[in-house]
Amino acid sequence: MIIVASSNGDVGIRQAMEVLRGGGSVIDAVVTGIGFVESNPDDHSVGYSGLPNLIGEVELDASLMDGQTLAAGCVGAIRGYEHPIEVARKVLEELPHVLIVGGGAERFAEEMGFPKRDLLTEEARAIWQQGLARDTNLTPGEAKFRERMAELSRRAADPERPTGTVNFIAQDRDGNIACGVSTSGWSWKYPGRLGDSPIIAAGNYADNRYGAAACTGHGEMAMRAATAHSVVLYMKMGMSLDDALREAMNDLKSLGGPWVSRMNIVALDRDGNPSAASNEAGKTFIYMRDDMADFETKERLYIPA
Ligand code: ASP
Repeated sequence: MIIVASSNGDVGIRQAMEVLRGGGSVIDAVVTGIGFVESNPDDHSVGYSGLPNLIGEVELDASLMDGQTLAAGCVGAIRGYEHPIEVARKVLEELPHVLIVGGGAERFAEEMGFPKRDLLTEEARAIWQQGLARDTNLTPGEAKFRERMAELSRRAADPERPTGTVNFIAQDRDGNIACGVSTSGWSWKYPGRLGDSPIIAAGNYADNRYGAAACTGHGEMAMRAATAHSVVLYMKMGMSLDDALREAMNDLKSLGGPWVSRMNIVALDRDGNPSAASNEAGKTFIYMRDDMADFETKERLYIPA
């Protein structure tokens, strides 16, 4: 049994492993691990205290995929709910749909009995305000601001600005795999923007027969190249996990246009081997097996953009 996660999953990986050790499902393990990251006030890229969009609203994206059935549940641009991964799980279990967004996702979360919470912390608000002040002295309430939002959102694509996401993959002793992703997306994004995280095949894919992969980074790239699915497909076609990661990262090099930036993938093959890749040097990921006392940190393959 193994749990693999992006490095910011360190606050939840031990608890996720405890779920597997206790006989819980891979879905339970992934949702548990991600839940701790979503509640972490020091992580401004996921859940509570995530950085807001251009107009100061925290909009969250999440997805969950079951590698046994290829069932998936996803929510996008949902506001006011601390655990979008739990709402995504309910989409998987309760709805005939895969993805619901915005007001519909909030309505569904309310119907499922999830508590509402104001997710914008003072610290996140201050970071948002400072970033906004670099670009304009207008405020979101002003008509002139509304006329310039497209331009301001383009500035948010600056790779130096803070972003992030959490990825969790779990495999149980029977070879069942689940993969989950949760994020507040790009800070200062255009309201309503979805990234790769709630999109199956882009930011998340799991198939017991071959393995799983999940992304962090500039989601628009993973959406255009179907990056998470590509890693799994390359394994299906016979590549090793590391070769599949290299091939999926190399696919991104053919993306034209101005929005080519950071990309990171964590992955697992069907035999329970973890690996990860990044187009930034020195990046790490974490994993924990059931026979390990604690998680280990490992360097990602570096594949320059
Ligand atoms: N992939 C996320 C998104 O595009 C952000 C990130 O991981 O930095 O929304």
